[in-house]
Amino acid sequence: MKIVNPASGAVVAEIGADNKTAVRAKYERARRAQPQWAATPLRKRLAMIRKFRAELVSRQNDLAKTLTLEVGKPIRQSRNEVNGVLGRVDFFLAESQRALREQKVHVDAKSRMQERIVHMPLGVIANISAWNYPYFVGVNVFVPALIAGNTVLYKPSEYTTLTGQHIADMLHAAGVPEDVFLPVLGDGKTGAALLRQPVDGVFFTGSYATGSAIAASAGRRMIKTQLELGGKDPIYVCDDANLKEAAAALADGAFYNTGQSCCSVERIYVHERVYDDFVAAFVGEVAAFKVGDPLDETTYIGPLTRKPQLAVLRRQVADAKRKGAKLLLGGHVIKRKGHWFEPTVLADVDHSMLVMREESFGPIIGIEAVADDDAAIELMNDTDYGLTAGVYTQNEKRAKKILARVHAGSVYWNCCDRVSPRLPWSGVKHSGIGVTLSTYGIATFTRPKAFHLRGN
Ligand code: NAD
Repeated sequence: MKIVNPASGAVVAEIGADNKTAVRAKYERARRAQPQWAATPLRKRLAMIRKFRAELVSRQNDLAKTLTLEVGKPIRQSRNEVNGVLGRVDFFLAESQRALREQKVHVDAKSRMQERIVHMPLGVIANISAWNYPYFVGVNVFVPALIAGNTVLYKPSEYTTLTGQHIADMLHAAGVPEDVFLPVLGDGKTGAALLRQPVDGVFFTGSYATGSAIAASAGRRMIKTQLELGGKDPIYVCDDANLKEAAAALADGAFYNTGQSCCSVERIYVHERVYDDFVAAFVGEVAAFKVGDPLDETTYIGPLTRKPQLAVLRRQVADAKRKGAKLLLGGHVIKRKGHWFEPTVLADVDHSMLVMREESFGPIIGIEAVADDDAAIELMNDTDYGLTAGVYTQNEKRAKKILARVHAGSVYWNCCDRVSPRLPWSGVKHSGIGVTLSTYGIATFTRPKAFHLRGN
């Protein structure tokens, strides 16, 4: 497997992928190791995760550099990710004991009955990951899974293989046995081989196309399946919004990580009374973003990680222009080594256009005018996805009324592109099934076993 720097096209490393025999052997090691790992006291498992956190801190700069080399993420954003993940680890360290405790839910002295819930680990889980935030989406799964007593077969994306190896090294250095956390390296073929093993749970982050195929095969096997998939996340800017603040926040929400976030702002609706002013302020913000070498500290927009996405973006721009959209900024592939696309703003778009319907996953946004709140809500809900949605207004009551009617896993008032370890992360419709983060995202790695106990 060749690891290619998307900023330059240069080969950074070559690595042997796991074939199906290697995958089988890793599965067997994980299966054998699981009972002993589950029997390891929780406080010892937590101590190892605490050491893993220390590894993340001490290796922070090297980790960020590797991430930038293999996915092209601007270096400050890579560092933000490695730093940002610490808060998630802290949350799991603080909350797991309580979330996993055995609960006595009923006692009846007369009949001598007691009812208890015990959180059993699922067993061996497959964690198949995306490349856009490998630390975030990985940690959401493997940290609580390990804490809960599962062994983990971790397949990083083929675009973040080196980061995946770093993660495995750090966990092993922290004392997690090598057979308890096993990296499985390779592309979709390796992922498919992993899913042919009799694992007890599949935790997947990636596209709807792959996720729905995985759901179909896992469904027949009756194993726990969680899918964190794509989004086409809308924001509505009301006529009473602080336009300057909204324009700055939404430009960042749409273009951070070069637009390659599952919860990137992908559609903007603006009340017609403030449409022109908002669009002007927004274009001003985007025009100021610095595109360039992702290793440069001042770069905000880097290359696209995956070359095929260039064709998706080109098609979305051509389709929108043909159907009457106004191209206000960008719109073209940047001619330099690697895969680059200009920050692109399309105004006067509508829902007949691909840019408002299919996930763009790049530095491009469509802006549409709406007559009122009802029209905005209807358009926000007119999508196959439902990951996040938000509203900018100075009126809290109006915001809450709108957000109650929007069909999405997370909703935002005067903020966007935000994930919190304390809140459940989930999607509706094609954005997925299951929950990570929050205490729900700890319990999800267990099977609640019901104990009906009658004393003597
Ligand atoms: P992808 O579906 O191409 O790949 C995801 C993972 O699945 C990779 O590790 C890949 O090797 C593996 N894979 C591919 N085919 C497989 C198969 N047949 N069987 C098993 N595994 C297989 O997605 P991607 O390009 O890595 O990620 C981008 C997508 O992920 C976007 O849609 C984005 O919105 C989504 N995403 C969602 C979240 C979330 O929290 N909801 C977070 C990050 C990314």
